[in-house]
Amino acid sequence: MCRADAWPLEKARAANNTSITPAQLIVILLGACVQLGVTGSAAPNCVAIGARTARWSPELVGDDARKPRAVGLAGWQCDLMMHAEQLNPEACYRALQTRDGRFDGRLFVGVISTGIYCRPTCPARTPKFENCRFFPSAAAAQEAGFRPCLRCRPETAPNLGSWLGTSNTVSRGLALIAEGALDGERTNVEVLAGRLGVGGRQLRRLFKQHLGVSPIAIAQTRRVLFAKQLIHDTRMPMTEIAVAAGFGSLRRFNETFQRLFRRPPSALRRKTVLPLPAGSVGAIGVTLRLRYRPPYDWPAMLVHLRAHAVTGVECVVNEVYRRTVQHDGQLGTIEVGQLPERESLVVTIRFPSVRALPTIVGRIRRVFDLGADVAAIAAHLAQDPLLAPLVAERPGLRVAGSWDGFELAVRTALSQHLSVEAARRLVSRLVRLCGTPLPAELCVGTTLTACFPSAANIVAANLAPLQMPSARKAMLMALAEANLADPSLFQAPTTIKDTIARLRAIRGISEWTARYIALHAVHEPDAFPAFDIALRRGAAGVDAQRSSPAGLNDRAEPWRPWRAYAAQHLWAADAALQSASSAALRQMLSSSTS
Ligand SMILES: [Zn+2]
Repeated sequence: MCRADAWPLEKARAANNTSITPAQLIVILLGACVQLGVTGSAAPNCVAIGARTARWSPELVGDDARKPRAVGLAGWQCDLMMHAEQLNPEACYRALQTRDGRFDGRLFVGVISTGIYCRPTCPARTPKFENCRFFPSAAAAQEAGFRPCLRCRPETAPNLGSWLGTSNTVSRGLALIAEGALDGERTNVEVLAGRLGVGGRQLRRLFKQHLGVSPIAIAQTRRVLFAKQLIHDTRMPMTEIAVAAGFGSLRRFNETFQRLFRRPPSALRRKTVLPLPAGSVGAIGVTLRLRYRPPYDWPAMLVHLRAHAVTGVECVVNEVYRRTVQHDGQLGTIEVGQLPERESLVVTIRFPSVRALPTIVGRIRRVFDLGADVAAIAAHLAQDPLLAPLVAERPGLRVAGSWDGFELAVRTALSQHLSVEAARRLVSRLVRLCGTPLPAELCVGTTLTACFPSAANIVAANLAPLQMPSARKAMLMALAEANLADPSLFQAPTTIKDTIARLRAIRGISEWTARYIALHAVHEPDAFPAFDIALRRGAAGVDAQRSSPAGLNDRAEPWRPWRAYAAQHLWAADAALQSASSAALRQMLSSSTS
């Protein structure tokens, strides 16, 4: 084993005498795996600091949303992360010694002498280097025979699926597994692969390449870690936890815990319960903490949610977001607040069936964009002088996801050519007209009254009272009928292109509408609606010249593969400009009348 004469980080610091951003540090540490050449084999994806060389995995080429034409920092970060099996032990050990939080969620250490695996931030004494083995995922550590640490609790590491899965297929697969796609008797890898538009063998190969394990191992680890979190954070009975986490039987659940933790599940129960954020309506329901990688711009997320909140379905009160949820014909509510000192969102779910918990938690992760590594994204975007000041101003900005595919399609279709507020009022009227009323016990203490209308509700409704053009009513009907005919139509979007093609097949859906819905539905970090007027105004506001969609698309090339985040920054800049100019206008009007 050879050693480099100087630690690459110190070399890099000495070379440019500037501070190193978290993303650069990650690149340096991971780059060290190639530079130190531990195995002695020449790595094909060799990188040098500042050289900006990169190769893009051929697997991505079929997916035009991610294919980079200009590759910046994120390009070679992605390339390095794609070859996670090359994690360099010495570089990883440095991260472990410094308990570097930036590696939390993307690096796990198995300790041979104890048989336990930890997060890099574990407060326990740092093990000897020769006793450590490093893994890119908790599942890989668990598959190698390590047990989860009871101190640092790997189940609470930020779930950076979208980062680890720099492959679109892998990140979509991870999201589906998190929602329980491999739980239950009628599920298997072939079915999952089919939903992702690939073969089972290809999916296994991609998982192995990116995460070091099979999809089944990921699902098993998810079940164990989710159950462990429910045991630790809630008062749910063990039988319910076994069901909620997707274990086939209580016996399997008990055996698994005995094997992994060497004690019965009940011995892992915590004595105290989680503190609830201010403004919570009560402690009933299941309350969980979902960790994110800081910073998190919670006020900006709440502003977005409040501006779009559909009356009766959603509300934002006292820094807490609430909404009604419907799953498999059952109704419930969720409540989401922030615990900044714990770098977590705290979520209370009230739902009659515990089986729905993984799906609901998965959706909350998507809506609140918990998988984003905003520090790494910001480091990439800040290389562009246009975006640098925006990123510096709002470092924790996230891209809000959608709760449900059909709901998103309806909201998007109705909101065209309307202001955000007018669209919100129109959708609220639709909910009043045909939303499913919420049981009284779930409404207590909130303004929530109904669930978003299902496709069946809309088809059965008389839309006459809705004040909108008849063409739009026909489009709404067509969306609902299409969803009734194929309930999975809006639930399993694959790529932007595929989603557009499926939507275009629906009568009355224009190319424009289809593109808009697809961009939002896919929750693709590289989605970029260059045709959006506010986005172009935002870009013009900071660049002093309004770009055409084509011009803006060209301008956005270097922002790949995080263009959705760049768009978020431009929208925020536009909103700030608009409110500043309307304040100035109000000021002018009031001084002219006085
Ligand atoms: Zn630990």
